[in-house]
Amino acid sequence: MGNPFEHDLLKNLGPEPLGDGFTVDALKAACAKRSAAIKLVIMDAKVVVGVGNIYASEALFRAGILPEISANQVSKPRLTKLRAAIREVLSAAIEEGGTTLRDFLNSNGQPGYFKQRLFVYDRKGEPCRVCGKLICQTVLGQRSTYWCPSCQK
Ligand SMILES: [Zn+2]
Repeated sequence: MGNPFEHDLLKNLGPEPLGDGFTVDALKAACAKRSAAIKLVIMDAKVVVGVGNIYASEALFRAGILPEISANQVSKPRLTKLRAAIREVLSAAIEEGGTTLRDFLNSNGQPGYFKQRLFVYDRKGEPCRVCGKLICQTVLGQRSTYWCPSCQK
C-alpha cells in the first residue's frame, strides 16, 4: 500500500490553487516550458489543480489576458495578476454557495449566486460588464472559451 501521496497519479498533480505551493514562481516555471495556450496550461492539473473551464475563463478576464496566448509569452507581472485572479475567482465561488469547485450548482441543484457575477463565461454576444464590447466565443482544446476583445490582450 504505502503512502497514498506517492501514487503515480497524485504524485504528478500540481499545487492547490489556494495553497501556499501555488506561487508566481511555480506558475512562471510551468508556463516557461509550454507554448500551449495559457488557458489550457492553467487548466492542466499538473500545473495547478481544480481550475476548470469556467474558472479559467473568468480568471483570464480578470487578469486581462487573452486565453489563446502561448503560456511562455505571458510576462511575470501578468502571471502575477493571473495567479491572484485564479485565487480570487475560486475563493468567491466557494464563499458564494459553492461547496464544490467543479460547477456552480448549490446543494439544491440550482445555479449559485456566483453565476450571476460571471464576466465572460456563457455570455457570448452579451455586452462586457466592464467596457460594453460584445463577448466573443471560440473553442480551445475542445472547450468553449469566452473573452472580451477589448479588456483582454
Ligand atoms: Zn470588456
